[in-house]
Parts: sequence; C-alpha cells; structure tokens
Amino acid sequence: MSLHGAYDPDNIFAKILRGEIPSVKVWEDDHVLAFMDVFPQSEGHVLIIAKQSQARNLLEVEPEALQRLTAALQRTAKAVEKALKPEGLAIMQFNGDAGGQTVFHLHFHIVPRWRDRDLKGHGHAPMADAATLQALADRIAAELD
Ligand code: AMP
Repeated sequence: MSLHGAYDPDNIFAKILRGEIPSVKVWEDDHVLAFMDVFPQSEGHVLIIAKQSQARNLLEVEPEALQRLTAALQRTAKAVEKALKPEGLAIMQFNGDAGGQTVFHLHFHIVPRWRDRDLKGHGHAPMADAATLQALADRIAAELD
C-alpha cells in the first residue's frame, strides 16, 4: 500500500471503530480511541486512532484531527508512564508499507521501554491474551488525568 490511495473502510481499525471486531479499550471520546495493541512489542503497547478521520497516514490527516490525536497521545503516554513506570517511551508512527505500516488507518504507537527488556519486532510479536491486556488497560486508565 503506497502513501497515496483510497481509504479502505474494511481495514481492521475501521472494523474496531464500528464494533465489528473486539478491542481492549483504554479510553475514548467522540474523536479518539486508545486501545491495546494485540501483538504488543512491549508490555503496555497502546495505539491511538482518530474516529472521524479517514486519513491513512500522517500526510493525509486533517490538522484538527492531528491536534486531537497528539493531545490524546500525550495524555495516554503520561498515564502509561504513571501506571507501568517504564524507563522510556517509544512513540512510533509508520507511513506506507515501505515505511513499515501494516494497518492503513493513521495511528500512533506508545511502546513502553525498559533497559533490560528487548523490544519485540514490529509485526512479529506474539498475540497477547485479552485478560492480560484488559488488566494493563485498567491500570493505564486509572492514571488518566
Ligand atoms: P502499523 O504496522 O504501524 O500499521 O501498526 C499496526 C498495529 O496494529 C501493529 O502493531 C499490530 O500489532 C496492531 N494490530 C493488528 N491487528 C490488531 C487488532 N485486531 N487489535 C489491536 N491491534 C492490532
């Protein structure tokens, strides 16, 4: 999938937004959804997506939607830091398949990092079980300002 093209309304995040497939939510409002990555690259890997925008990548997103996303990104990253006490936080965002993107609905990754824990490969991490993800989501949500 190149950087340019049509939005696919059947991409997996669109299905999550429509409630057609399950997700483990951290929080949401009318504009954004924060939910657990089901193939986490580290413990507490969270994804942030816009609900209204059909931007596939950073190049396409409307400025207002981007502002809401980045505000949600910071709010969620602060809660992740309080809840899980990582030593670092990797904020990642990929554009186009050549750029490492696999789901073509714009999203930001929050990946907590610890010096003594290896980062699992992007797109190669094992699937986490829903109960483990729910427990992490609950801990993160409890720290939201
Ligand atoms: P990217 O490769 O940047 O497009 O990231 C897509 C992310 O979506 C990857 O980190 C996947 O692990 C994650 N992912 C794929 N399917 C699901 C799903 N059903 N629920 C939650 N995360 C998912």
